[in-house]
Amino acid sequence: MTDAIAMERLEAALGQGGWSRDAERIAPKLVEWRDRWRGATPFLALPATPGQVAEVIRICAEAGLAVTPQGGNTGLVGGQIPQGEILLSTERLRAIRDIDIADDVLVAEAGVTLTQAQEAALKVGRRFPLDLASAGSATLGGLISTNAGGTAVLRYGTMRGLVLGLEAVLPDGRIWNGLRRLRKDNTGYDLKQLLIGAEGTLGVITAAALKLYPVLASRAVAMAGVASPAVAVDLLRLAKETAGETVEAFELICALGMEMAVAKRPGARAPLDSRPPWYVLIEVASPRADQAGTALEEVLAAALDRGLTDDAVIAASESQAQALWALREGQSEAQKGEGPVWKHDVSLPISRVADFIAEAGSALGARFPGVRIDAFGHVGDGNIHYDVLGPPGGDPARHAEARGEAARMVHDLVNSLGGSISAEHGLGIMKTEEARRYKSPVEIAALEAVRSALDPKGIMNPRVLFSVSPPRA
Ligand SMILES: Cc1cc2nc3c(=O)[nH]c(=O)nc-3n(C[C@H](O)[C@H](O)[C@H](O)COP(=O)(O)OP(=O)(O)OC[C@H]3O[C@@H](n4cnc5c(N)ncnc54)[C@H](O)[C@@H]3O)c2cc1C
Repeated sequence: MTDAIAMERLEAALGQGGWSRDAERIAPKLVEWRDRWRGATPFLALPATPGQVAEVIRICAEAGLAVTPQGGNTGLVGGQIPQGEILLSTERLRAIRDIDIADDVLVAEAGVTLTQAQEAALKVGRRFPLDLASAGSATLGGLISTNAGGTAVLRYGTMRGLVLGLEAVLPDGRIWNGLRRLRKDNTGYDLKQLLIGAEGTLGVITAAALKLYPVLASRAVAMAGVASPAVAVDLLRLAKETAGETVEAFELICALGMEMAVAKRPGARAPLDSRPPWYVLIEVASPRADQAGTALEEVLAAALDRGLTDDAVIAASESQAQALWALREGQSEAQKGEGPVWKHDVSLPISRVADFIAEAGSALGARFPGVRIDAFGHVGDGNIHYDVLGPPGGDPARHAEARGEAARMVHDLVNSLGGSISAEHGLGIMKTEEARRYKSPVEIAALEAVRSALDPKGIMNPRVLFSVSPPRA
């Protein structure tokens, strides 16, 4: 089948409104939100049902046409931007199919955004706990395909732990209905776990059954100053020992990141007068109305007692809590205008976080004098966003050119400390090649065998993850 005939078949299968070849209609889907990657596609497929997704994949498989799935286009590693492949958007897969409070489950289609899922859960007195700054646009399909993390992983885990079942179209066009609602299902290999984090390489997720939790009746948020990342890790341990599983989030921010966020956010104020070198944002939350505030006060009292902090503030209202969170969530935004940034989304055993920050800082400072380190992130999960800005007044082009060399230094160090070069954003087109350096040949061979068994023609997102055949676009 020629590509032209395949596309005519796609048009017929999708019907009016179900596809586009209009450059203007397609354009926003070909640009990554920071404009880091731009793509191209001959055809935008907009299926409205799982049956139509299956039809698209079946036609593409027969014609040997490659497909890139896309949800909200908020991914940070470029995996959703096609480079000549058919672009399959889930924007019309928007149904919330069921919410059941006996099973504590929400079943929704892949194109539903995180905010829509959270709001639907709240309407029945439940909570879907995954949260991140892109919630308004990121879709369930994308969040599952990147195994997203965010700010509440400490307590609830990543997407991997929040998905009970999946419905997906496999690379040959067959629909797999695995929308189970079971907390326990020990019947061999777990196909849904293969699809979670697969970045669109093993099929298209069309719907998911997600775990719901009780609504939190109390929450308390504090910002504390600490002397170093090592002290932040000590404070994390103390918080977990004192407040147990009510510790909802534990985030680290460095002084540079805090200064930039305060300076660039209209109306923002420095949270602590003492201007410490490092900050931790702690959130404690509980289904019991009287619990969170007391638990957080106990944590901070114990921390003061042990000399882990000498300056901390507890938000006295919801708006103050939001203002503290805005400083954390505005970290990436605050880098705008500072020139190119070397970004690294890495994770480490929590015990090695402080070593990593210290060693990476000295190595990069020696090799690239004057660079400014902006380290922040989900230290409760060992996940640091280790961002590096150029020297003040330096040449942005020179800084941009050295990105690859710096990434290699950071990733080698992470690897030597037992960490991962992608904590929560995935590999995409940004890190796929890099990841080959750090996975063993045994692991890569096993992963490629899985991929080739499910997608022997290599049509699903072929430039991403460990491929079995040369990409065909
Ligand atoms: C401001 C901001 C903050 C962020 N913070 C976090 C954070 O704290 N933690 C975190 O983990 N991420 C974070 N992200 C990253 C991003 O939001 C996630 O990667 C998100 O999970 C992607 O969802 P999406 O719908 O936009 O997917 P897309 O970007 O459209 O796609 C991402 C990947 O999933 C694949 N895909 C999409 N839909 C499907 C589907 N239905 N079936 C199969 N494959 C599919 C794509 O091919 C691509 O490889 C942030 C992003 C932004 C912009």
